[in-house]
Amino acid sequence: EKDAALAAASTSPDSPTIFDKIINKEIPANVVYEDEKVLAFRDINPQAPVHILIIPKIRDGLSRLAKAEERHCEILGLLLYTAKVIAKQEGLEDGFRIVINDGPKGCQSVYHIHVHLLGGRQMEWPAG
Ligand code: ADP
Repeated sequence: EKDAALAAASTSPDSPTIFDKIINKEIPANVVYEDEKVLAFRDINPQAPVHILIIPKIRDGLSRLAKAEERHCEILGLLLYTAKVIAKQEGLEDGFRIVINDGPKGCQSVYHIHVHLLGGRQMEWPAG
């Protein structure tokens, strides 16, 4: 957890991120869903049997949720809706967890907004 906090603190908010390379197919990813606006792929360091990241293909200033403007409402809704579609696709009928980490205190390490979809085990509350 300390490592995640350190990584989060040392990342610059506006530069390109590793997710651009995934979107541009410069590095491989295990893609589970793709459409015009949204890409979803399995997290490389899964925290649950199912751990998928759902991202907008175009960041449009949305490096983090704290940067959201009214124009982002449609894509934000689409990210959540896509999470639900993928949860069904993954067989998570008994429930799942959605997470958006924001900023250093939220342990965000990649500054291209993403929704974590976690499932396949009993989640705990409160989150750490
Ligand atoms: P944290 O690293 O604290 O989870 P984030 O919410 O910013 O912070 O999540 C970024 C996520 O991206 C991490 O869960 C990490 O494992 C994942 N990740 C980083 N690089 C890749 C990659 N190349 N392919 C898939 N997932 C990745």
